[in-house]
Amino acid sequence: MNTTSARPERQAPWHWEQDASLRFVQVDLASSLSGPLHAAFSGRHWSELPAVNVDEGGWREHLQRLDAHEPFFHLELELSAQADSRLWISLSGVPVFDGGGTFRGYRGVGRDITGERTAEATIASLSLMDQLTGLSNRRLLLERLHSARLASVRSREHGALVFIDIDKFRDLNNTLGHASADRLLVAVGTRLAACMRDCDTVARMAGDVFAVLAPALGSDSERAARNAHTIADKLALALAATGDSGDDTPPFTSSLGVCLFQGAEASVEEVVQRAERALQEAKQQGRRVTRYFDVQTETLANQRAAQEQALSRALPCGELRLFYQPVVNAAQQVIGYEALVRWQHPQQGLLTPGHFIALAEESGLIVPIGEWVLTQACRQLAAFATDPALRERTVAVNLSARQLAQPDLVERIQHILLLSGAPARRLKLEITESMLLTDMGKTSDTLRELTRLGIRFALDDFGTGYSSLSYLKRLPLSQLKIDQSFVRELLTDPVDAAIVRTILQLAKSLGMSVVAEGVEQEGQRRVLADMGCTEFQGYLFGKPQPLE
Ligand code: C2E
Ligand code: MG
Ligand code: MG
Repeated sequence: MNTTSARPERQAPWHWEQDASLRFVQVDLASSLSGPLHAAFSGRHWSELPAVNVDEGGWREHLQRLDAHEPFFHLELELSAQADSRLWISLSGVPVFDGGGTFRGYRGVGRDITGERTAEATIASLSLMDQLTGLSNRRLLLERLHSARLASVRSREHGALVFIDIDKFRDLNNTLGHASADRLLVAVGTRLAACMRDCDTVARMAGDVFAVLAPALGSDSERAARNAHTIADKLALALAATGDSGDDTPPFTSSLGVCLFQGAEASVEEVVQRAERALQEAKQQGRRVTRYFDVQTETLANQRAAQEQALSRALPCGELRLFYQPVVNAAQQVIGYEALVRWQHPQQGLLTPGHFIALAEESGLIVPIGEWVLTQACRQLAAFATDPALRERTVAVNLSARQLAQPDLVERIQHILLLSGAPARRLKLEITESMLLTDMGKTSDTLRELTRLGIRFALDDFGTGYSSLSYLKRLPLSQLKIDQSFVRELLTDPVDAAIVRTILQLAKSLGMSVVAEGVEQEGQRRVLADMGCTEFQGYLFGKPQPLE
């Protein structure tokens, strides 16, 4: 196959014939249709050809023309017999009639146009590629930005556009000389590309200005801002690396301008201008600076990045606390606790999970934090076990999705139980429905293994998620926790009352116990008790507190 010749040669045409049922009965073997491609023609109807560029509609149009016995010219087909061999051919044909005027089929000529097509493709890719670095050029970046913006209108996901400029490049160019400066640009491109995902675009816009387009950073603006911050950090770090980077580029610094975009809120031109303006501001501030287009994003990104850093120090610095909220039975006796984590922040004071659990989830810090919580809770259980008055009490621990996804979760928990000496039968793990969306099979296996150790599982915040009955059937759950949002309006909203009653009946028929959460008033407790609820948790019985 002739695909890579520098100048496409015109291939000699070959002959083909079809019968009245439009099947190929003869295809000239002296053509480039060798081997499997030739075989792909014999006896085949048009739409059975391995043509990857014609869809159903395309064939319908072509066949309508043939039904009308019209001639056709330059029908271009991209044929693929094997994954790695592609061939472009161009077919022209005329109808054939016998002496009596009866239609006998078609005959015509074909030509191999692979060379021409490959050359066209090369030219097209050259016009979208930066010649020096092999990265995308400005034109391709703008096209991708256009597509990313359209996709974002549908998905509501934010994207980021980052402009990168090498500080004092003109000086470098003068001192290093052109050839070395070019090598530096190539190295910059390589380093930028190395830290991005496949779906991102890294481009050289002009001179020493590069751009990175990162779509789909999440629909939540805080999260997107923090993702953009992470990306900018990573890029700046990759560029600042010297010595160990494998290339012998002289040290240099760079400035970055970042802007976020979402939906149709700004045009492609506006997004580019915003990133450019942010870059200008970064340059005005001196070297090695990253600036964001809007103050809000900048503040958010910096705050969240600082908070993440502070959170990563919380565990080693001993700033986490474990609070316990009592769970009571129908006689209002304490039968156990739910362990709830708190962060004693050095400046911001005591923070509840709402302020840091999401961040811990996203950054992965939830894994060591969750392990700490579990360890503390197990030590507490072991302490209860030594006191005959308290030995029956249970402790419930909230498990995060990330923890559940750990391949060695079972061993880790087993290890914690062993070290602490806690009775597994008194440990309850709380999971939520949203954690069950991925890989139910694996989750179910993990839960079953843990159940075998004696651990029990509760489904937390029940009623707020998908509340799919198949979870209840497939997972070894022993308890449902009615979310506090249903308890809150229980006395005033008949719909909430109906939901709570239904959950209680469902649990009863499945042999599961139920804890009502967020019980604040005696009236709520009484109604719940009347409906058959036997376990309660809420401010009415005690807020989360340190146990001593
Ligand atoms: P959750 O597991 O549903 O915990 C119950 C939440 O309801 C707790 O909030 C508790 O303080 C609050 N609460 C209890 N009784 C009442 C009441 O009567 N009225 C009202 N208004 N609220 C009540 P908290 O401690 O802020 O925890 C929030 C969420 O953070 C928890 O919801 C849980 O999902 C998560 N969380 C807490 N600790 C951990 C942990 O160690 N690991 C993980 N992965 N998540 C945790
Ligand atoms: Mg819970
Ligand atoms: Mg809950």
